[in-house]
Amino acid sequence: MVIKKAEILGYCMGVRRAVETAELACSENPGKKIFTLGPLIHNNSALEALAEKGVNVLKEDASDLATDGQNSVVIVRAHGVPPKVMQNLKEKGVTVIDATCPRVLSSQKRAADYAKKGYTVFLAGDKNHGEVVGISGYARASGADCIVIEHKEDAESVEYVPEKSVLLSQTTISRSEYDAIAAVLKAKNANLVVLNTICPATDERQNALIELCKDVDGILVIGGRHSANTKRLLRTAQELCAHSALIETAKEIPAEFFTLNRVGLTAGASTPDFVIDSVESALAGHENT
Ligand code: SF4
Repeated sequence: MVIKKAEILGYCMGVRRAVETAELACSENPGKKIFTLGPLIHNNSALEALAEKGVNVLKEDASDLATDGQNSVVIVRAHGVPPKVMQNLKEKGVTVIDATCPRVLSSQKRAADYAKKGYTVFLAGDKNHGEVVGISGYARASGADCIVIEHKEDAESVEYVPEKSVLLSQTTISRSEYDAIAAVLKAKNANLVVLNTICPATDERQNALIELCKDVDGILVIGGRHSANTKRLLRTAQELCAHSALIETAKEIPAEFFTLNRVGLTAGASTPDFVIDSVESALAGHENT
């Protein structure tokens, strides 16, 4: 069997940085309790590996953090947090390590800058997603109204787009969905400023997968079942390849894949390298699954 990996797969820059930050925090702070605000990434295998190293998970707003701050290290994950959560952490006296992805930091800053200039901020994305909660927190803390738009239909129901308005997006929104939302809001105010805050990581993995589908008989998409970008990779594989499956670990490889001549591998942006390696080994007939 030939096993081919997509040219770009697995951890994006922000997730790799957050995981490495957490691992370093464990080794550099012996005797201290290490926490993340919410699960660090959307992948059970990676979370189990971090838990073994001593990383504990708090609620996203840190409301369950005890006040023995001196003995605690709290890692802010790649999605970032609103300024008031950061402030609360500092008041509790914990050591804060900020692993917010630089791309998300840029969105937070741009939302805050436009807010300070008196703009109304429209933010396209999932209103319950940590990144959206964080960015809207920065806009509101800088004095703006921040309206979260989840779907094109939400944009259609917006009655009024003020003269000074700006639209930005969650970094992982799909380009077509963002364009549709922007078109609806632009029709209500032609002067709406539309920022491009979509991260290329998702598109890069999609494009590499499209190329890979031309060369293989089946695609295994490795990643968490709750990971939005992993599910999007599966949809593409289903459209372009005769055999496709989403698996979280090597143990879930469907039997049919062992009968194919050429199997392609791709993985979501929060899938660790060791899980990808174990799938590759299992397909190649090794036993370390
Ligand atoms: S998807 Fe992009 S914005 Fe989000 S954590 Fe990864 S690199 Fe950062």
